[in-house]
Amino acid sequence: MTDSTTDPIRDGHVVSLQYILRNDEGVELDRSGPGDPLVYLHGASNIVPGLEEKLTGATKGATVRAVVPPERGYGPRVEGAVQRVPRSAFAPDAQIEEGMQVVGESDDGQALTFFVTEVAPETIVLDGNHPLAGETLHFECTVEDIREATDEERSHGHVHGPHGHG
Ligand code: ZN
Repeated sequence: MTDSTTDPIRDGHVVSLQYILRNDEGVELDRSGPGDPLVYLHGASNIVPGLEEKLTGATKGATVRAVVPPERGYGPRVEGAVQRVPRSAFAPDAQIEEGMQVVGESDDGQALTFFVTEVAPETIVLDGNHPLAGETLHFECTVEDIREATDEERSHGHVHGPHGHG
């Protein structure tokens, strides 16, 4: 592994974070696992912009709290992005379950990601919104480690190694 640095976080750093994410009501939505931090490349839009901004300049060991509005998080909810699709639009043996992501194609051939929000015998409800769209995100993070990204990571725009792709 590359040596960690005591430099404050800037673009081109690989950052390991422990985090807890709560919504406006204080309900926990997500958290990193013990010994399994979120590892990301800073400045490469790997995480939501509002959190990335807040982490810039933080040092190893720091606790960072960020309140991120939807516009700097997963975007506002768009009601028109919800679609009801007949079950027959999927292959008969396709396993479709709530919470799954499916990739579809727009009329101009662009890949679109949908989240399955409802599964009925005849109909599947697909939502083009991210599940956290419209939410104000309350992050509480601890910076576990910071290191320089490798040239390869920088050119790919993401982290390699145990937490990235091989
Ligand atoms: Zn890569």
